[in-house]
Amino acid sequence: MAVRPIRIYGDPVLREKTRPVGDTTAALRLLAEDLVDTMFDAEGIGLAAPQVGEPVRMYVVNLGAIAPELFLDRRGPSLDGEPEHLVLVNPRVVKREGAQTGDEGCLSFPDLYEKVTRPEVVRIEATDLEGRPVEIEGSGLLARVLVHEYDHLEGVLFIDHLSKLRQQFLRGKLRKLKESGQAV
Ligand SMILES: [Zn+2]
Repeated sequence: MAVRPIRIYGDPVLREKTRPVGDTTAALRLLAEDLVDTMFDAEGIGLAAPQVGEPVRMYVVNLGAIAPELFLDRRGPSLDGEPEHLVLVNPRVVKREGAQTGDEGCLSFPDLYEKVTRPEVVRIEATDLEGRPVEIEGSGLLARVLVHEYDHLEGVLFIDHLSKLRQQFLRGKLRKLKESGQAV
């Protein structure tokens, strides 16, 4: 178990196409553990594998950071007994409903918080590390984190959801981040 460096905007891995997870290997288990450690260390609500430099379809969510009423449905042995975190392998978004607009940040964009519109309700189907089905449906912050992390697997970053005008406004700040990201 280890905390890995979080890749910052500008690192090409954040835009890479991710590959589906095949059989669970020791390396994959280690990556999942490291994702969880890194997320908690950074006090994040979620973290996707590309953010630690691994372009594979897996992300983790800090369930303890989410209010219980935002969980609309949760199924699967890895969700039994109120776990502190959840590992989602090969996730698919099977429902997006409604809309919410609120402040959003990303561990790959230190100190940048922007208003982003997301679905109000999101449902994900995935598997856990043992290959067992996991289903989770949430609203509010939970919906937001579920699609934010899913986007990372598609090489999509939260700034992509901002208006062209807002992106223009942030150009200088993003350029600075990009330069720091590439320097790592
Ligand atoms: Zn992010």
